[in-house]
Amino acid sequence: MKPSIYGLTREDLINWALENGEKKFRATQVWEWLYQKRVRSFEEMTNLSKAFIEKLNENFVINPLKQLVVQEASDGTTKYLFELPDKMMIETVLMRQQYGLSVCVTTQVGCNIGCTFCASGLLKKQRDLTAGEIVAQIMEVQRYFDERGEDERVSHVVVMGIGEPFDNYDNVMNFLRVINDDKGMAIGARHITVSTSGLANRIRDFATNGLQVNLAVSLHAPNNEVRSSIMRINRSWPLEKLFDAIDYYVEQTNRRVTFEYIMLSGVNDQPHHAQELANLLRDKKKLAYVNLIPYNPVTEHDQYSRSPMEDVLKFYDVLKKNGVNCVIRKEHGTDIDAACGQLRSKQMKKQHAMEKSANAEVLSFEEKIKPQLKG
Ligand code: SAH
Ligand code: SF4
Repeated sequence: MKPSIYGLTREDLINWALENGEKKFRATQVWEWLYQKRVRSFEEMTNLSKAFIEKLNENFVINPLKQLVVQEASDGTTKYLFELPDKMMIETVLMRQQYGLSVCVTTQVGCNIGCTFCASGLLKKQRDLTAGEIVAQIMEVQRYFDERGEDERVSHVVVMGIGEPFDNYDNVMNFLRVINDDKGMAIGARHITVSTSGLANRIRDFATNGLQVNLAVSLHAPNNEVRSSIMRINRSWPLEKLFDAIDYYVEQTNRRVTFEYIMLSGVNDQPHHAQELANLLRDKKKLAYVNLIPYNPVTEHDQYSRSPMEDVLKFYDVLKKNGVNCVIRKEHGTDIDAACGQLRSKQMKKQHAMEKSANAEVLSFEEKIKPQLKG
């Protein structure tokens, strides 16, 4: 299978062109066709020689994604279900924010971290996405606007879709370099956020990789006991190790860290949990930002329910009284399959049912034919 050219950073593309006997400016031209004119085929790159176009076609595809379903909610949140070249499915979400268009990308097919509240973790990781497949999600959403003549640009990106980005570290970093490139999509690093379940060793790598991208950590609990009970990863990277890595990150970058905290009724949402959380963040108040997130119910995880608003507000008050920066996150797309992984898991169930009924047809056909053959 040919890789997507979107997976190459500008430097990679230049090196590839030079290795293939082309001048550097030819690579720059290709880059402009890809990210400024956003063409769908190499043939549209009309200032390149036929031979070079042929070489590009021999080695790469542009878009590796096939759009299967688009669902638009009343608030404009749009979900895209895409098929990969090996027929696996991923989803991408577009949110219309006051500050612009924000896209949530998927980084893996499934996820091995297995958090007990998450729809994505229901399916073990099938494979990592390539950098090109992650970039292509941004390009497909941008084209969706281009093709409707809407002069809007994807200006923000959150790496919060299916998968653990730091379990696919190198591809995710290349993806970030491509979309951040100022001669390409030029999405500002400060407008990009990567969310991790807390792979402490990778947080350390991320601290020194030179990208000015924001970091969000899925904390979801104020102590090891609660966190280990809902997030298996906490057994490998408990809070002490996680916070050592976060301290290192803050030391190196002096950047703020967002802590995501899903409010699960009776599990982690009581005032004493809020106090414990405030204590945990005591020494990094200015650089810590807590996002209280309403839980999106997942059918398969019916042991959890959403915290009542009253409890969320009480929790918020305790944090505020302790001087912790905190917001209650607004929900998006509540009238479509909102939680990441839900549209995909629904589509997979549908396909499974279709396959089953197709098998049933084959069976009944055999049942009809076999007696005749015997006879
Ligand atoms: N794997 C990374 C990024 C993808 S998940 C991570 O875990 O951070 C993105 C965010 O969605 C995480 O904070 C995750 O905990 C949260 N999430 C998962 N399932 C959810 C659900 N059912 N309702 C609300 N948020 C959920
Ligand atoms: Fe994976 Fe993130 Fe879901 Fe946990 S919350 S299972 S890390 S996608």
